[in-house]
Amino acid sequence: MGSPKDLNQPEIYVSALVRAAQTDDVEALTRWLADDEQAESGPFYKWYRYFAERLIAMAPRPEQGFVARVARTVPLPKVGRNDACPCGSGKKFKQCHLGSEESVAWKMGSPTPMMRAMAVSQIIQESPLEVLDEVPLEKCSPLAMAELAAAYQKEGELDTALTLLKRMLDGDRDDPFLLIDYWIARYAEWLVDAGLEAEGERFLLDEYKAARKIEGWQVAQKLAAFYIDQGNLEGAESWVSVAMEGKPDNPFNHYLKGLLHHGGEQWEEAAQCYEKAQSLSGELREQEQSYMAELVAESLERARNHQPLMVEEEEEDGDAMEQPTLNDDEESR
Ligand SMILES: [Zn+2]
Repeated sequence: MGSPKDLNQPEIYVSALVRAAQTDDVEALTRWLADDEQAESGPFYKWYRYFAERLIAMAPRPEQGFVARVARTVPLPKVGRNDACPCGSGKKFKQCHLGSEESVAWKMGSPTPMMRAMAVSQIIQESPLEVLDEVPLEKCSPLAMAELAAAYQKEGELDTALTLLKRMLDGDRDDPFLLIDYWIARYAEWLVDAGLEAEGERFLLDEYKAARKIEGWQVAQKLAAFYIDQGNLEGAESWVSVAMEGKPDNPFNHYLKGLLHHGGEQWEEAAQCYEKAQSLSGELREQEQSYMAELVAESLERARNHQPLMVEEEEEDGDAMEQPTLNDDEESR
């Protein structure tokens, strides 16, 4: 027997859910959970089989729009008093958790919404487009819709990606794990990639006028970045000010301001803004910090050496912000 999967660990629970979404094979999932090829003879077999059945019932499947199957209650396994306790203590059930099964409820509980969201993202990223083509969109959460859009964009299916993302943005946007400002920036960026720059600009301006589930300054920040990307520093200027007024401590705002100075060859001012951005970057989400640090460090060095802004390559810029991964630090069970 190897080392059984500990469903107490959120990331293990997530990968178990992903695996469950990809199979209907209870036995195979049981063996994986137990990390035991001969699981049916192991001491924990009944428990792991029970966990496997539950995971399969709860898995967010593509063909169901990533909604759990009709809640199917899985009956607790009949475990004898002399069987091994599910907690893994090695003691007999009767000498350990018998009568207090709820204290091992972690394994039997449902995934938190955050774990479910992480599983949905991962399942979409791992599914081929033929599978994603069959997803019933009307059932999809905004988060699933956005992740689907990203999957198509990654495969070069830009039209489908834009349609899906627009559908999400036009919807209720009501998903606690949806990073709406990230998706707004991507939508404008993809429009530019599709040669629809004017439409991208109009989209952002409309968003700014009627910001939903996002602050006005956040959209202003996207507008500033949008114009800077187009080499239109003048157009960016007022938006940097709006963003800065809205959130003076946001490191990305200072970075954008630095870019404006940099473009005007005001090396000292640019360097100061970049340094300010660096000093504020501790407030960013962890996964954004390294991205931000890299970006700023490079620009800062150029400003100090009186080198102009980097010129973007025309094709496949590759500078698109890495898609942030969901993490579970904002929710505990
Ligand atoms: Zn126990």
